[in-house]
Amino acid sequence: MSSSTDNSAASVSNKKRPVIAIHGGAGAITRASMSAEKEQHYLAELERIVSSGQAILAAGGSALDAVTEAVRLLEECPLFNAGKGAVFTHQGTHELDACIMDGRTLDAGAISCVNHIRNPILTARKVLEVSPHVMFTGAGAETFAREQGQEMVGAEYFFTQERYDQLQRAIAADSGVLLDHDGASQSGDPLDPERKFGTVGAVAMDALGNLAAATSTGGMTNKQAGRVGDSPIIGAGCYASNHTVAISSTGTGEVFMRTVAAYDVAALIEYAGLSLEEATHKVVQEKLLPLGGIGGMIAVDRFGNVALPFNSEGMYRGFARVGDAPSVSIYRS
Ligand code: ASP
Repeated sequence: MSSSTDNSAASVSNKKRPVIAIHGGAGAITRASMSAEKEQHYLAELERIVSSGQAILAAGGSALDAVTEAVRLLEECPLFNAGKGAVFTHQGTHELDACIMDGRTLDAGAISCVNHIRNPILTARKVLEVSPHVMFTGAGAETFAREQGQEMVGAEYFFTQERYDQLQRAIAADSGVLLDHDGASQSGDPLDPERKFGTVGAVAMDALGNLAAATSTGGMTNKQAGRVGDSPIIGAGCYASNHTVAISSTGTGEVFMRTVAAYDVAALIEYAGLSLEEATHKVVQEKLLPLGGIGGMIAVDRFGNVALPFNSEGMYRGFARVGDAPSVSIYRS
């Protein structure tokens, strides 16, 4: 598969203006079976959410606040596999993972395997702000969330019929784990719902030049209970450092973990002197793909350059620089 770095974004000349980029997962495109209505729905939601992040940055808000709010809104939108709309485990439960990182301080917070926290990204943010620890998992993460006054919900809150049907198809086909956007489409989604990765994420640079990244997911359909993917793992599914870059990944989590994908981009920039576009291309096309790592990432570097590369057929994505109209897309340009 060829490169899909979003050159239109990477070549925006007016650098150092605050900018935010978001993703809603990557996967296979079923243009033929796609419904135009559903495509418009996805694009409208992406635009609404990236505009909210842009407004925070335009008002002088921090990159950390902008990515927190963008990911919270993505979690609230059932079109995407995070928060409401999360995929099912093999056992028919939900297990959500999230991570956030502040590029200014390298502070980070992450949670994994939770299923009663309405907005995992807000709890990850709390971990970043108030805990000496970096990651909580399972029951301990939920106790922490309760103690911090986070909104808790019954496990049924995360149920959606579409995701449940997806699990039944995966079990019937004995197809192993599925990325949220992978499989035979029966829904008219722009990206085949059973051959797509549905993780959500946001990266931003604010007016002070600070970078931040956030990622949240339900993981992969039909995953075993207890399985943790790359999304809450710093350096794999999420990374931010003001010295280099902010990254949020989506795709075959196991391969993103094995390649330490997000940090690898930062290392290529810091130690090998690669540009953002070169570094993200190398990781997405040359490191992930040979190991079967399908998906993509969104990235903003310390100069305000944006790259939105993926090696799948499409990725729900958008970016908005303060002062410009947002740009949203699904397929290769
Ligand atoms: N990376 C996520 C995981 O492996 C899946 C996704 O991006 O959809 O849990």
